[in-house]
Amino acid sequence: MAMVVAREWREIPGRYNLIGTKCGCCGRIFFPSRAFCPDCRRASIGKMEEFPLNRRGRIYSYTVIHGSEGFNARMTPYAVAMVLNDDGVMLEAQLVDVDLSKIEIGMRVRAVLRKLDEDGDAGVIHYGFKFVPDE
Ligand SMILES: [Zn+2]
Repeated sequence: MAMVVAREWREIPGRYNLIGTKCGCCGRIFFPSRAFCPDCRRASIGKMEEFPLNRRGRIYSYTVIHGSEGFNARMTPYAVAMVLNDDGVMLEAQLVDVDLSKIEIGMRVRAVLRKLDEDGDAGVIHYGFKFVPDE
């Protein structure tokens, strides 16, 4: 199991590490990463740089989800938030470790890496980011 987790961590894609790309021409930041900038097009090819996103931001909007199928049914209701991070990039993820009645637009949050689910057959644990209140 430890080896499987280690491999998962090594192969973890940029979206789990919150690494986006920044256009070397106009400075626009993309998440998930893009191969080129839709504004600068050809000029941006080869000029896109990895950009580690700021994990802190504010809740822009959120939705409380009641009832769903499968895995998530065990943890409903839960909140999914659109968060405008401190780089000005919109991120969407589940909001955890928070009293659902206390969620407010503009609330400070930060992204943390959490276990998402476990594939029983393969024994592979998947990780992804979620938001928690930032005190
Ligand atoms: Zn650009």
